[in-house]
Amino acid sequence: MNIILLGPPGAGKGTQARRLVEERGMVQLSTGDMLRDARTSGTEMGRVVAEVMDKGHLVTDEIVIGLIREKLLSGASSTGYIFDGFPRTLPQADALANLMEEVGQSVDHVIEMQIDDAVLVARVTGRSTCANCGEVYHDKTRPIPGNGKCVNCGGTTFKRRADDNEDSLKTRLLAYYKQTSPLIGYYYAKGALETVDGLAEIDDVAAQINAILT
Ligand code: AMP
Repeated sequence: MNIILLGPPGAGKGTQARRLVEERGMVQLSTGDMLRDARTSGTEMGRVVAEVMDKGHLVTDEIVIGLIREKLLSGASSTGYIFDGFPRTLPQADALANLMEEVGQSVDHVIEMQIDDAVLVARVTGRSTCANCGEVYHDKTRPIPGNGKCVNCGGTTFKRRADDNEDSLKTRLLAYYKQTSPLIGYYYAKGALETVDGLAEIDDVAAQINAILT
């Protein structure tokens, strides 16, 4: 089973994707994570990607489609893929459909995580992750434990994303509404769209997603 998680920055896509990896053994394909890896590569491409990401703009379709293509062609996942942060434009959605056909698979569910824009700034600006395992924390709602150790792996180094600031979020949100939200209509028309209430507690959202997947 292959699924797409759709929603603005801060909707909880990464958090829910991590749960699906842990609970169902699915494979998370996050173009954001792949690009964050690329930016540390020291290449010219990495430098360009870093600049675009930090401002909150979208990286070119060509680059992200290339990253996904490479993953999909390197071997099928028997437990299914979670597309997290991809596709983000209509050309990316078309490219994904073609790629899936090429590898003899399909997208089974497109799950839109609906959220109130007013909560996104608070969600995004307070977040950090464990540098070792990627566990997600939030200054207000899920602070790093007082002993400074990650609850999941015991790691002691935490990081914040360079683009998790108010200015960058405004641009990211604009990019979402201009370039990504048309995908809601696109997948609705294909009969593939399902929605969950992204404002609910993490466990509730997970239960809503599980109900769709069973
Ligand atoms: P994310 O971790 O999904 O929030 O992505 C972080 C940043 O990476 C975005 O703001 C974009 O600059 C870039 N990015 C991630 N996925 C894509 C994509 N599918 N298309 C274009 N840019 C992307």
